[in-house]
Amino acid sequence: MTDSLPVISHWINGAEHPSTSGRTAEVFDPALGTATKRVALANRAEIDEAVAAAKAAQPAWGDLSLARRQTVLFKFRELLNERKPELAEIVTSEHGKVLSDALGEISRGQEVVEYACGMADHLKGEFSEQVSTGVDVHSSRQPLGVVGIISPFNFPAMVPAWFFPIAIAAGNAVILKPSEKDPSASMWIAALWKEAGLPDGVFTVLNGDKEAVDGLLEHPDVAAISFVGSTPIARYVYENGTRNGKRVQALGGAKNHMLVLPDADLDLAADAAINAGFGSAGERCMAISVLVAVEPVADGLIEKIKERMNALTVGDGRRNCDMGPLVTKAHRDKVASYIEIAEQDGAEVVVDGRDVTPDGAPSGFWLGPTLIDDVPVTSRVYTEEIFGPVLAVVRVSSYDEGVKLIDSGAFGNGTAIFTNDGGAARRFQRDIQVGMIGINVPIPVPVATFSFGGWKDSMFGDTKAHGAEGVKFFTQLKAVTTRWLDPSHGGINLGFPQND
Ligand code: NAD
Repeated sequence: MTDSLPVISHWINGAEHPSTSGRTAEVFDPALGTATKRVALANRAEIDEAVAAAKAAQPAWGDLSLARRQTVLFKFRELLNERKPELAEIVTSEHGKVLSDALGEISRGQEVVEYACGMADHLKGEFSEQVSTGVDVHSSRQPLGVVGIISPFNFPAMVPAWFFPIAIAAGNAVILKPSEKDPSASMWIAALWKEAGLPDGVFTVLNGDKEAVDGLLEHPDVAAISFVGSTPIARYVYENGTRNGKRVQALGGAKNHMLVLPDADLDLAADAAINAGFGSAGERCMAISVLVAVEPVADGLIEKIKERMNALTVGDGRRNCDMGPLVTKAHRDKVASYIEIAEQDGAEVVVDGRDVTPDGAPSGFWLGPTLIDDVPVTSRVYTEEIFGPVLAVVRVSSYDEGVKLIDSGAFGNGTAIFTNDGGAARRFQRDIQVGMIGINVPIPVPVATFSFGGWKDSMFGDTKAHGAEGVKFFTQLKAVTTRWLDPSHGGINLGFPQND
């Protein structure tokens, strides 16, 4: 019976807010395989209440001086830095990733908080003096109002943090709708904002499912939506949000390839394939899921990867393991089903994760690292996002064939090339139709001062996450034309103003 489990509610107006919807979902500890909590699923009345509280709080916050807003940001950064091990434990207990990986995602989120601490600099406008006689023009960026963030399960701390520090520092009020699979990180972050001195109502957590998402997409007082999740939902959110007049950035799924050229350092490439393929059990949008081996490297590379896979430990993320469980049983079974599909499609399963012996409870959602060679590019193992610890190998005969293959896919999130040939790497970075490129770097997630986002079906909308693009997304531009009057400006002229 899970009815007696604690219920995670919402965070509205600076406090936990018991849910009245009567709807909840189970939240699992994936390493134990048992439900440990329930999460409230918001209804329309709760959505309205959350938006009203955010709307009431935003004007005063947006009007506060940048210096005062930044004081809160700096305090939040200090508290987060001190307490992140607490947050990492929460992430591990609901997502399953190992503690060091959970800490890693929090540190990447903290980077964006640090970037937002410099908001006074990022919001500097432009000024042109004497554009016409006695006339000056300047531009400024102002907050949008209430903005929504809808996040996926795989980075319960980092992905929301791609957006909320910038949105808040820029003077907006934020409503975060986290994944219902691991909602506790968001509630912990909300309490931390309160402790840092953020006024009540500026940061809200609205827990829920499709109903909460639709409520935000349709609410007239929500000005913008930042969404991260699978491609079909990203497309849905983009289409519906923009139809309702909102500014939307919607980051979707991925199928990231790593191209290994014959001159590459194969030890470095094998390490990279392991780290990027199996870190966080492959539940990363920037995970490498396809290894494109330019012959004759495949046999040697696979041998080195196999050796390393034999040494990997799978188990409870709170223990000293390399890789944790998958997030839910349904997801574990779906990922495992791709191994069967590979067998049916004539690929060779070199290492089978279904045989794993985990260091954890037998009821956990376990699937070990899996390596599949000679995957036909027509197989669903190649064409679909698997989002688990399954690394597919496709053999090609040339650089050109590899590039053509990578560009033929629907997604364009990340890709990497492994080579010692600077000319080939430079050609790759210019030619390839993908948003984020790694050169001998397998997970090329840009630092917070740059912006994150893919191309093609990996992102809908034209403004990416964090960095200068993030500031642009969460602000609207105003241009002010000024003339201080003197008698020479008198007279009537109905013509369109011309500069002289
Ligand atoms: P998901 O699409 O199932 O869920 C994402 C969010 O959408 C959640 O908050 C969820 O509650 C909500 N949602 C789910 N179904 C919905 C529906 N029918 N209508 C409206 N809202 C709905 O994604 P997930 O399984 O939580 O996360 C994994 C996916 O996210 C993968 O596809 C991964 O590639 C992608 N992802 C992408 C990036 C990126 O930067 N491009 C980053 C992280 C994850």
